Amino acid sequence: MSQTFIKDLTQFVNQEVILKGWLNHKRSSGSITFLELRDGSGFIQCVVSKNDISEEMWEQVEKTTQESSVEISGIVSKHPKQEGVFELQVKNFKLIQQAIDYPISPKEHGPEFLMDNRHLWLRSKKQWAILRVRDVIITAINEYLHQEGFIKVDAPIFTPNACEGTTTLFPVPYFDEGIAYLSQSGQLYIEAAIASVGRCYDFGPVFRAEKSKTKRHLSEFWMMDAEGAFIEHEENLKIQEGLIKYIIKKCLVECTVEFGILERNTEPLKKVLEKSFTRLTYKEAINKLQSLGSDIKYGEDLGNDDEGLLTQDSEVPVFIEKWDKNIKPFYMKIDPEDDSRVLNDDLIGIEGAGEIIGGSQREDDFDLLLSRIKQSGMSEKEYSWYLDLRKYGSVPHSGFGIGVERMVRWMTGVEHIRECIPFPRTINRLKP
Ligand code: ATP
Repeated sequence: MSQTFIKDLTQFVNQEVILKGWLNHKRSSGSITFLELRDGSGFIQCVVSKNDISEEMWEQVEKTTQESSVEISGIVSKHPKQEGVFELQVKNFKLIQQAIDYPISPKEHGPEFLMDNRHLWLRSKKQWAILRVRDVIITAINEYLHQEGFIKVDAPIFTPNACEGTTTLFPVPYFDEGIAYLSQSGQLYIEAAIASVGRCYDFGPVFRAEKSKTKRHLSEFWMMDAEGAFIEHEENLKIQEGLIKYIIKKCLVECTVEFGILERNTEPLKKVLEKSFTRLTYKEAINKLQSLGSDIKYGEDLGNDDEGLLTQDSEVPVFIEKWDKNIKPFYMKIDPEDDSRVLNDDLIGIEGAGEIIGGSQREDDFDLLLSRIKQSGMSEKEYSWYLDLRKYGSVPHSGFGIGVERMVRWMTGVEHIRECIPFPRTINRLKP
């Protein structure tokens, strides 16, 4: 008999199966022991009756501690009281390795202790659920983009210069070439690739050296950057809205167990699917914020509190579009209807999610792009390859980047982004 996974047990009712995994929890009452087993695909209660197994096996059951690895065979039965829940009536038990003094007990631990033990903490039910939601989000992004005609083209992580200046970059010594920087976005490279494949995206870790200490910033996070030839501002927003709705739909269908463990109220997510996202220009957003009591001034970036204020009564995410060009990077296209602003958007999620996506139409005119590069005090030489893209068959094009962990934080309702990535890197956390 080969190993069966807990997620598949519905097909094996009244049959004997072998499960392999770890002991999550044990509770005994006299000659009956209840073992909660997890195997990565799910959790199940295994009922061991002393009379049903050999004395040797019963001794092993008694020796089995939290997180010991085990192999169990038995008959799958329906839970006597809970619909859709199964139990295993144990026939054979094998202790593979006894875990002694596992440091994380069911009692409360502080976040620093848990983070120091992240390599073990990942096994807890809540962390398991978050990892699985994260995987569904990543799968959804890949599926949606392929449906929309994008293919995956990878961008390098070592880069010679910065997308938006060097202040927020991690320098790395690079052979005889001097200093390389860890990429903060693959965007410029996939802009080159669209002239080959039309629509593409990259998906990988990016690095930000800003000394942010918020619940929404990591120094290493996963970003998906999408870019498409002949996509203009309006279509860019449409693709972004479609992507967010696709992710939510997939999570609602595939993450019911996980949302249950996370005690996530999914009603607000269902409502997001019913309406179009709100759109505000940057100017309208500033006016609205001022009327709501914020002291933000025109020309300033939105802070966390401002994003919260703007979305507090909203059932859908809010696009803030057409920002003042002076606070946005050189590659964003100047709005032909108003040259003080650019054709870009930030998408702010609801429920305190903050900014999820940043996108824009890119400047496709050689002369305008060159003057923006010069105005930003950047080197024409460094960007000569990027300028080439505007020399040889330049086309209108747009793209956007979504932060995976921001999306995981929103979907799971977890407060701190450090739980939304397996091994977080923040300003004061590099281990384990
Ligand atoms: P913020 O203003 O929130 O710091 P940003 O304007 O620097 O974000 P972009 O450079 O536009 O963000 O990056 C695109 C997306 O990447 C963001 O919309 C967000 O989802 C995500 N993101 C950006 N910075 C971080 C970070 N430090 N940690 C996690 N995700 C991030």
